[in-house]
Amino acid sequence: MSSEIIWNDCRTCNQNTKHTVLGKTSKATPPDIYHDETKYFLLECNGCETIAFREEYHDYEEYYPISEDEYEHPISVETYPHFIKNHVPLEFSFDLPPIVENIYKESIIAIQRGAYTLAGLGLRATIEAICNDKEITGRNLQIRINNMSRSGMISKSDTQRLHAIRFMGNDAAHEIKKAKKESVMIALKIVEHLLLSVYIFENEVSKYLETPISTLDELIPILDKKLKVIDSDSTFTFVKLLGTAKRRILEGMDSLETELIQRVNDGNYDKIEVTAQPDGTTESSQWFKKAAGS
Ligand SMILES: [Zn+2]
Repeated sequence: MSSEIIWNDCRTCNQNTKHTVLGKTSKATPPDIYHDETKYFLLECNGCETIAFREEYHDYEEYYPISEDEYEHPISVETYPHFIKNHVPLEFSFDLPPIVENIYKESIIAIQRGAYTLAGLGLRATIEAICNDKEITGRNLQIRINNMSRSGMISKSDTQRLHAIRFMGNDAAHEIKKAKKESVMIALKIVEHLLLSVYIFENEVSKYLETPISTLDELIPILDKKLKVIDSDSTFTFVKLLGTAKRRILEGMDSLETELIQRVNDGNYDKIEVTAQPDGTTESSQWFKKAAGS
């Protein structure tokens, strides 16, 4: 016996595909009360083997003619689990801090269920959670978004987009205006872009790529590491100590060196000492040696 095939949306293939019916049943209201029927299907996608549950509601009291002798009745279809069509959820969402991840995921659930007003509020709260996590302060969200921009965390165009979401959340909360699906879907994209750039790229980049260094505080941990593998009586210049890390300093090499010398002289960095230029060298920049006992 060949199995029954029906077309259904597949959340994994992200499109309408052929599904094999693995099982089905139906329940009807007694016809003397109301003439309708709910059909239930357990489905398997023929492309990717994802399992889904389809619920069809048939209203037989609402037959309408589609031609002279043909009639149709309304059918509404729901597929479970719910999913957002044409949306690929963020990969690596485990890189997000839990408070941000939770509110982001709840916003997704709200969208999946068609609760767009709550989804709009959720996306706005996701931005608030990012500000809290990154310790971006401000009296209200408007100021916090501007402060995020000022801190260099987000670009100017990101800032404009975030303000748009802020307005959306405002409308939902204060005027109880129902958010439109289209605006919520755009807001979701903006928030995901923000999450990617603030958390996920940052983590991936620091894991796999060397980021530029612009302050002495960023440089110190690298110097500490280099000093660990240097002989205790050797002398060196700043550039020699940096070694391959030199390429990570894109500008301000001289001022970083001056700042380092200052810090050593003030006694605020005790792992190296400034020392005289060794005999026989022509390199006239400041020389250092590893401090005894470090
Ligand atoms: Zn599929």
